[in-house]
Amino acid sequence: MLERESTVGTHQTGHNSGVIHAGVYYEPGSLKARLCVEGARELYEYCQARGIANEACGKVIVATDASELSRLEELERRGKANGVPGLRRIDGAGIEELEPHARGIAGLHSPGTGIVDFVAVAGALAQDVVEAGGVVASGSGVTGVQVKARALLLTHASGATEAGHAIFCAGAWSDRVAVMAGADPDPRIVPFRGAYLRLVPERRQLVRSLIYPVPDPSLPFLGVHLTKHIDGDVLIGPTALLVAARDAYRLGKVRGEDVLDTLAWPGSWRMFRHWWRTGLSELRHATLRSACVRAAARYVPELGVDDVEPAFAGVRAQALTRDGQLVDDFVFSATERALHVRNAPSPAATSSLAIGRYVAKEAERGFGLEGLP
Ligand SMILES: Cc1cc2nc3c(=O)[nH]c(=O)nc-3n(C[C@H](O)[C@H](O)[C@H](O)COP(=O)(O)OP(=O)(O)OC[C@H]3O[C@@H](n4cnc5c(N)ncnc54)[C@H](O)[C@@H]3O)c2cc1C
Repeated sequence: MLERESTVGTHQTGHNSGVIHAGVYYEPGSLKARLCVEGARELYEYCQARGIANEACGKVIVATDASELSRLEELERRGKANGVPGLRRIDGAGIEELEPHARGIAGLHSPGTGIVDFVAVAGALAQDVVEAGGVVASGSGVTGVQVKARALLLTHASGATEAGHAIFCAGAWSDRVAVMAGADPDPRIVPFRGAYLRLVPERRQLVRSLIYPVPDPSLPFLGVHLTKHIDGDVLIGPTALLVAARDAYRLGKVRGEDVLDTLAWPGSWRMFRHWWRTGLSELRHATLRSACVRAAARYVPELGVDDVEPAFAGVRAQALTRDGQLVDDFVFSATERALHVRNAPSPAATSSLAIGRYVAKEAERGFGLEGLP
């Protein structure tokens, strides 16, 4: 395994909400729906087997006004069709029973949603690779892929490696390595920064577990939510702001190559034309702490700007097609001797074991390895 950074889990896997999603949101029949439900079950089992801290603390999705009820119904329909365990409709009193400080007119309760330390999961998976006889070569960012007659030649920061086949899963850089290997540049990755606030310790009691709004179904993001973290923090966020670097953990970070890649992509301009209003509101969330708090205060009204302090930020690798569609589902593709994970946004951390198995099956088939021990 060739990893660019000095350790695994440095990017999205180490900068997210830490939620084990149960599979409520996703279009029935989609890869996300299937791999999230399977992946969550497997992840709980894996954490149990490997002693990784996790908690099935449950989550409520809260509708605050009548205009959200049909979307809530659709979420319930999707969740049930996807086989989300224990999913049930609750009323305002039911919301308050589970989350005494939340207010809404109706909600969904998913008792199987939970929290985990995804960096610990990634670390345990890397250890599995080593124990199975593999090598995790950190500091080995791949810079070139050459297709030869019987192998791929991967050039990287620590030299070169010849491989019969390769599977590329490079998160925010997945389009670049795919193109190096001869793939179509469509879809391109555009970086959306997701910043979090955290509740000050003396106000953590405002949230017992996980409280989410009803999301806008046309966007691949879940809206500002309140999530208990496995380390005891309660996070508010994330925002969703298009940024100028694929590793913009700092808001002002600019990388010329990343800006150029976004601006030179026809899909970006189509996205700007379609989503400029949402973009402006996200800009407000990202720059004004009070706007982000107000978004969460819609369903936890006691929440005020003095209850929060800044936390960390993650950067979503969001695939965007040439014609301006934000790709919602997981996307896998192939080039000669290689497979590519082209879009693995949330809930891909939850789904990681199921995605791994899916990709392994595709590799067996695509690389002609079926029947080998
Ligand atoms: C703000 C935010 C909140 C989220 N919340 C959740 C959540 O609560 N639950 C959930 O299930 N999912 C969540 N997600 C999504 C989840 O974090 C990602 O789907 C998942 O971590 C993707 O894993 P990955 O391995 O594809 O990408 P990453 O974790 O980004 O890893 C990509 C890896 O590729 C390496 N790499 C890149 N280029 C090269 C190269 N050229 N050569 C070698 N190595 C390279 C990088 O160093 C990195 O280690 C969230 C994401 C964000 C950003």
